[in-house]
Amino acid sequence: NKQVVLRDYVVGFPKESDMNTVEGRITLKVPEGSNDVLLKNLYLSCDPYMRVLMSKMGHEGFGCYIPGSPIAGLGVSKVLESGHPDYKKGDLVWGMTKWEEFSLVPATQIDFKIEHTDVPLSYYTGILGMPGLTAYVGFFEVGSPKKGENVFISAASGAVGQLVGQFAKLTGCYVVGSAGSKEKVDLLKNKLGFDGAFNYKEESELDATLKRYFPEGIDIYFENVGGKTLDAVLLNMKLHGRIPVCGMISQYNLSQHEGVTNLAHLIFKRIKMEGFVVNDFYHSYSKFLEFVLPHIREGKVVYVEDIAEGLENGPAALVGLYTGRNVGKQVVVVARD
Ligand code: NDP
Repeated sequence: NKQVVLRDYVVGFPKESDMNTVEGRITLKVPEGSNDVLLKNLYLSCDPYMRVLMSKMGHEGFGCYIPGSPIAGLGVSKVLESGHPDYKKGDLVWGMTKWEEFSLVPATQIDFKIEHTDVPLSYYTGILGMPGLTAYVGFFEVGSPKKGENVFISAASGAVGQLVGQFAKLTGCYVVGSAGSKEKVDLLKNKLGFDGAFNYKEESELDATLKRYFPEGIDIYFENVGGKTLDAVLLNMKLHGRIPVCGMISQYNLSQHEGVTNLAHLIFKRIKMEGFVVNDFYHSYSKFLEFVLPHIREGKVVYVEDIAEGLENGPAALVGLYTGRNVGKQVVVVARD
């Protein structure tokens, strides 16, 4: 049972060498009387929060990874054997699993049974999984968008951002995104239907850049990165603007967080800035699927994935999130069926 284990707690930017691929042992059998489920892992999701679990402090409520043990994350798996009445051999599921070929997990760790298989299975790590639901609830429930509003999205070509942009276009908004390379900017403009996009690494004056794209200001800023971007955005928000705070990836590897100096604009402009965690919205998953599946089938919403083949290539794929190596949703393929 090939596994990706954490070597030691991580400080600063994570490196590929912070993880090892090893041969572990697992009994391929559900113990008598337990309601565990034996899974064959197919697709693993690389998500920014995983860095937080690599540090000794971990994350409140989520704990941390244990050095010498496999790391864990969301994934799509096939049930090989089940001690739980809700699952049977051959079922496809998504939920928390370990980064290994086979996992024995408590049934409570499985989030959802996969019912629709006419779309790529890997989509359940992205557009039809946690990042998709994040984009949906963050934009529609926290952002409260209206037709014609001006929307700005950071990390716009990523797993969450590319969907927020498309949902905003479906709503009739004017949408601009920032991303870290020319390739990503081209994707946003030519494939994902954004009205405008720029490479934030090439803009020395973000405030001036935002004023160029939004001469009348921003109604909704979908926050994925924090730091300097947030500070410049605050200067450019409109009265009664909304900022769904999804993530702040630019801060995750810093021991000292960058100061945001323009926070008082929340007051002057009556901006609503609201943090949210997708786990609180899992009850909206079926409503979300009803919304997004027809759009995928009709080609009205597309999804860009970055596929790493093989568990042994997982560590490089995961740490690539923090340097922007991924183009679209980063997935690791362990097996295809
Ligand atoms: P992405 O697929 O967008 O991958 C991460 C991207 O972040 C990179 O490709 C890179 O893109 C960008 N990035 C990395 N470092 C920096 C930096 N220092 N400054 C600016 N951008 C950087 O990830 P996701 O779409 O999965 O996640 C996006 C955000 O949403 C993250 O902050 C994540 O933590 C958050 N999140 C929050 C959830 C919630 O429940 N609140 C749930 C899921 C995600 P680029 O090349 O453009 O810089």
